[in-house]
Amino acid sequence: DVVTRFAPSPTGFLHIGGARTALFNWLFARGRGGKFLLRIEDTDRARSTQAATDAILKGLAWLGLDHDGDVVSQAAGAERHAEVARQMLDAGDAYKCFSTQDEIEAFREEARAAGRSTLFRSPWRDADPATHPDAPYAIRLRAPQEGTTVIADAVQGDVTIGNDQLDDMVLLRSDGTPVYMLAVVVDDHDMGVTHVIRGDDHLNNAARQMQIYHALGWPVPVYAHIPLIHGPDGKKLSKRHGAVGLEEYQVMGYPSAGMRNYLARLGWSHGDDEVFSDVQAIEWFDLSGIGRSPARLDFKKLDNISGQHIAMMDDAALLNEIEAFLAAAGRLPLTDTQRDGLSRAMYCLKDRAKTLPELLDKAHFVLAEPPIEPDEKAAKALDDVSRGILSELTPQLQNASWSRNDLEAAANAVAEANGVKFGKLAGPLRAALAGRTVCPSVFDMMLVLGRDESLARLARAAS
Ligand code: GLU
Repeated sequence: DVVTRFAPSPTGFLHIGGARTALFNWLFARGRGGKFLLRIEDTDRARSTQAATDAILKGLAWLGLDHDGDVVSQAAGAERHAEVARQMLDAGDAYKCFSTQDEIEAFREEARAAGRSTLFRSPWRDADPATHPDAPYAIRLRAPQEGTTVIADAVQGDVTIGNDQLDDMVLLRSDGTPVYMLAVVVDDHDMGVTHVIRGDDHLNNAARQMQIYHALGWPVPVYAHIPLIHGPDGKKLSKRHGAVGLEEYQVMGYPSAGMRNYLARLGWSHGDDEVFSDVQAIEWFDLSGIGRSPARLDFKKLDNISGQHIAMMDDAALLNEIEAFLAAAGRLPLTDTQRDGLSRAMYCLKDRAKTLPELLDKAHFVLAEPPIEPDEKAAKALDDVSRGILSELTPQLQNASWSRNDLEAAANAVAEANGVKFGKLAGPLRAALAGRTVCPSVFDMMLVLGRDESLARLARAAS
């Protein structure tokens, strides 16, 4: 059975690259009836913080990436990691190295001066235990020195590393603490991880980790090292390209479904499909669809995908998404009246809003507390002539059944009687009904507001 994991280091906010890694692991597991586990790699005590762990959990929750089982703390496994190092020592797959930091430095100096490889070769590898001093020691892996280690990577293909390029890595430091590389291998093994999908900045680690697997006789997981995300200019993604923290995207008002879709498309593809549902992504996701070159951030595409998801979402889900957005962005929550107005207007707000704040801007006509005050742009449409036309429209509307057809007929009749195009009416109507130039069509607004409220707004604007 498939078991994947996301293994972030809690040293900062959740980067969108990390969020994408989590998503790929989640999609892969969910599409195969497998498990998606979460491990917090908190062994770097100085840099790991609870706040960072909380931010990671919050980000994953927003993206809807639910994990199976308990959150695993890597630091909590230190005793187990150390025990495995000692087992390897007992089995002869590792050895005690008494070299001090100074001696290792001296070795490197000398090698450098002589133009030899500076890879440390411990004199203790083959030393007779009878000669061992009574001194602190590190436990080093007895790594193969000939041949190659081949990472059969599902994305990168076979990556071959000569064993003569790798030293006998330390597994357990002389102070008794296990190294990160060992912790990852032991944790992945103990958690039953079958597939390791992660950034290709870990490709070199994979060779070392494989040497540990081989020494232990444990099965090596399938590796899939995905190219990192680049900025629109093709350079390594950084702050100057725009938002790099997942949370910033939530605050900008991208719905999580749109963000999932967009992140899935960053480095993975399924034919020409750009916009898809979670169900489709789970069904389609496969390691063979991951590209070998870095994906570039494309904010236009994000807007486009986001807008299509907003249009596709059902009204109740969209309302939830909006309330979560308002909270995340530190904006005021909806009042009952606003929530009710928004629900009734949702059908005419969903189209063409790329983000949730854009949708909310368009929703001003149901969110603003009457009386409606036109903003500067909208007020320009309210000259004396158009005020006159608005007052003529009022009795017509009073007699209209409140159907779209009748409303349109009444407006067209008044426009015609005044020898103007309907467009001449639309501006003043928008100013009266919404106080804004950006809003749904005037007929949709009248239908949502109802007869009394619509007429009250017209009367006020006409006076
Ligand atoms: N903790 C590592 C990171 O945040 C990931 C290690 C792994 O996936 O094996 O980059």
